[in-house]
Amino acid sequence: STEAMRALPVTVSSSAKVALEQARKLREQELASGEGGSGGIKPGTQCKNNGCSNVYEDEKSLQQKCRFHPGAPVFHEGYKYWSCCKKKKTTEFSEFLSFAGCTEGTCVFQDDPTKKKKALCRYDFFQQGGNVTLSIYAKKVDPDNCSFLLSPNRLTLSILFDMVNNFSLDVELFGRVDPEACKVAILAPKVEITLKKADGTSWSELGNLLSSEVEGDED
Ligand SMILES: [Zn+2]
Ligand SMILES: [Zn+2]
Repeated sequence: STEAMRALPVTVSSSAKVALEQARKLREQELASGEGGSGGIKPGTQCKNNGCSNVYEDEKSLQQKCRFHPGAPVFHEGYKYWSCCKKKKTTEFSEFLSFAGCTEGTCVFQDDPTKKKKALCRYDFFQQGGNVTLSIYAKKVDPDNCSFLLSPNRLTLSILFDMVNNFSLDVELFGRVDPEACKVAILAPKVEITLKKADGTSWSELGNLLSSEVEGDED
C-alpha cells in the first residue's frame, strides 16, 4: 500500500549558506577561466559515452556517429548490464563492455563541467527518545535542488551537493513515523533528518532500500 508523501520543511544554517556561496563563486571562476572550453582535445582521447569506443583524431572526429548507452552501469547479484538495456545481462565483464550501444548520438571527448552526476554519499542514523536522526554527510548542499518526501513508512530524497553531485535515497522505513513532526536541517558538514517515531519500536536498521538498481559513479 502506498501512502501520501509530503515535502518536509527544510532549514538551512548560515554556515551552510556561506559554504554554498563560496563553492558557487569558485565554480564560476573555474568555468570562466576556460576549463570548460572546447579546444585542446588530445588526439587519442576516448569517447566518454558508455559503450562507444571511438577515439578522437582531429576535428572530423566530432562528426562521427556514436552508438552508446545513456544509462548507468549496474552490477547486481553477479549480473552486469546497462540500466537502459535491462534485458541484456551477463556475468562476464568483458562481454558487458562489448554490448553495443542502444542509442545514436555524437561523441563526447570532454567532460561537461556543469553536468550533474549520480554520486554516493555516506550516511548513518541514531535513535534517541522518540526520534530517529538520519545524517547524510553531504557538503555544499544546494537546497533549491533537493527534495525530501516522507510518508508514514517511506522516505524518498534527492540531494545536490558539491555543485554537481546528486545523491538519492528511497527507503521503506523500519518503523512508522509521524510525517507532520519530521524535519530537515541542512548544516555545513551534513544534512540532518529528524524522524519522529509513531510508536515505541526500536529500529535495528533504517529500513529497506527500495531502489533496486545499485548504480555506481558514472565517472
Ligand atoms: Zn543501452
Ligand atoms: Zn562516441
